[in-house]
Amino acid sequence: MNMCRCPKVGLYEVEFKLDGMRSIAQHKNCGELLSEQQQNEIQKQMFKLWGIKGEE
Ligand SMILES: [Zn+2]
Repeated sequence: MNMCRCPKVGLYEVEFKLDGMRSIAQHKNCGELLSEQQQNEIQKQMFKLWGIKGEE
C-alpha cells in the first residue's frame, strides 16, 4: 500500500484500523495510508476538537 500524498487531510476523511497491535490511519478519499506527519496533524486536529492541549 502506498502513502497518502494529499496536501490536506481532514479529520473526518480518516479511517482508523487495527493492524495487529497498532492502529493505522487510512485516508478514505484516496484509500492510502497516512504518513507519520499526516497522522500527527490529524492527532492535533483531534486534540483541538476534544479541547485537549498539546502540552501538559
Ligand atoms: Zn489521501
